[in-house]
Amino acid sequence: MRPKIIAGNWKMYKDLHASSELIASVVSRVDFDLDNVRVVVCPPFTSLELAHRLLEGSPIALGAQNMYTEDEGAFTGEISPKMLLAAGCTYVIIGHSERRQYFGETNVSVNAKVRKALAAGLTPIACVGESLEEREKGITEQVVGTQVKALFKEISEADASRVVIAYEPIWAIGTGKTATPAQAQEVHQFIRKIVAQLYSWPTADKIVIQYGGSVKPENAVDLLKQPDIDGALVGGACLKAETFVPIIRAAVKT
Ligand code: PEP
Repeated sequence: MRPKIIAGNWKMYKDLHASSELIASVVSRVDFDLDNVRVVVCPPFTSLELAHRLLEGSPIALGAQNMYTEDEGAFTGEISPKMLLAAGCTYVIIGHSERRQYFGETNVSVNAKVRKALAAGLTPIACVGESLEEREKGITEQVVGTQVKALFKEISEADASRVVIAYEPIWAIGTGKTATPAQAQEVHQFIRKIVAQLYSWPTADKIVIQYGGSVKPENAVDLLKQPDIDGALVGGACLKAETFVPIIRAAVKT
């Protein structure tokens, strides 16, 4: 059975002091059996090492929000997968819509980063999703299908099953608007079908596909109950243990 993965994307929030408070609060509240649920927190780069130390002995894994495609070199401002591993990361978010929108990431760079993350031994959480305009034009499947095919380019079937996909409709990120469970399920099922076409059904059935976009304790159960929704990538609601931990509980329950 596929695990469910609940990941918190802290974005550019929480300095060192606030990071240690949030980690301590999440760790102390996750005092229940996670069963088949994996939990990941993705703080800013500056808090990774501290988070790693504070998470020791807890079942919560650490992830980063981005990485570069080289191990080291003259690439001012970039962070390599090797550095993320040394800081204790096992996951890395790649191609978040904010990185595509503000930092020029493309389907090509996302694919290069996914390949590099896999080669380095990190689990990539690769983000895809359509804009409101694209949804209204009726081209959601075309856009998401293109993104999914691009992100798997030149990736072997064995590696493909290690990729986590996060379907995040851009119009639902940070807006309070959530895709209905049926809308999200429809796209998740479509993504799984594309993976089956690229590889095989056994591989498609193994792939974890998270939903992201204004996931909150109030809507988590209904979303996570859908057969093809295998977890959540959570933004706003992960910044407080009071709203993040109930989403983890919802995943355990469903
Ligand atoms: C995100 O940033 O990945 C996200 C889904 O944000 P939010 O939950 O705030 O919509």
